[in-house]
Amino acid sequence: AKEGGKNRIVIIQTDEEKITLSESQSIVLMIKEALRLGNFLLYFQPVYRLDGSLIHYEALVRLYDHEGRIVLPGVFLPVAEKFGLVSLIDRWVVHNAIDILKDNPEMYIFVNISASSLGDEELLKTITNYIKQSGVEANRIGFEITETTAIKDLPRAEHWIRKLKEIGCKFALDDFGVGFSSFTHLHLLPVDFLKIDGSFVRDLDSDYTKRALIKAMNAVAHTLGKSTIAEYVENEQILSILKDLNVDCGQGYYLGMPSPLEQIL
Ligand code: C2E
Ligand code: MG
Ligand code: MG
Ligand code: MG
Repeated sequence: AKEGGKNRIVIIQTDEEKITLSESQSIVLMIKEALRLGNFLLYFQPVYRLDGSLIHYEALVRLYDHEGRIVLPGVFLPVAEKFGLVSLIDRWVVHNAIDILKDNPEMYIFVNISASSLGDEELLKTITNYIKQSGVEANRIGFEITETTAIKDLPRAEHWIRKLKEIGCKFALDDFGVGFSSFTHLHLLPVDFLKIDGSFVRDLDSDYTKRALIKAMNAVAHTLGKSTIAEYVENEQILSILKDLNVDCGQGYYLGMPSPLEQIL
């Protein structure tokens, strides 16, 4: 896969491929080195209102391997999770995103928060302090969480979210519609956006069931006062159906590829 127009090789892991023990050991070493040297990098993918205006970017983490090739999060995050390194990566991502916001006053960024970070009191303090210290307006940073991560300890997650919302940060519920989606969570989690999972959006042009499901998710979100973002907007036809269905925002290869900062500026 090519991203951002750069001809770098990307290591791809399909669902069928299981990472072997020695592979995961070398990934652990890569992650530790990246944490030590700051060898991660952030790609940014735009999220647009379907009327055309840019609302924010989602930050997507990557890392360089020994040959300087880019490794995708689908490869290294499961390993990081298993070896207890993912909260360190999340910290790196949040700090870097805030630094980038400081340098680029026009930008709004959403970062992904993993299961081990959501509810972490220490991280909550770090984020709050770093935002204050940086002088960046808190409403320019948002956090993407999933229900699967939130329901591990719902009251704790809710508290964490409310504390950051109090200072002005935004929240999005990622991968909505897959996993442990329930109306209870949707009702309890004070998120601003609901991200309709890409699996509902892909092939939308040929699948009427998906159309009905998106229509329903969109109605529920709007009833609860939340905006919707459709992932995987891959072509013009899909975009036009999403507009017809009254979805608020979209993100996907058709609207903008994840790209390095230099490229989006
Ligand atoms: P996600 O948060 O649901 O991010 C969307 C993923 O879909 C990204 O993959 C993005 O490149 C990809 N994508 C965007 N538009 C399209 C499209 O039109 N078609 C298709 N087929 N794919 C599209 P990526 O960057 O490989 O990230 C995968 C997952 O890794 C993310 O899913 C997120 O759960 C996780 N992740 C990424 N960055 C971070 C991070 O900084 N921290 C944490 N904790 N997780 C991250
Ligand atoms: Mg996300
Ligand atoms: Mg997503
Ligand atoms: Mg997704």
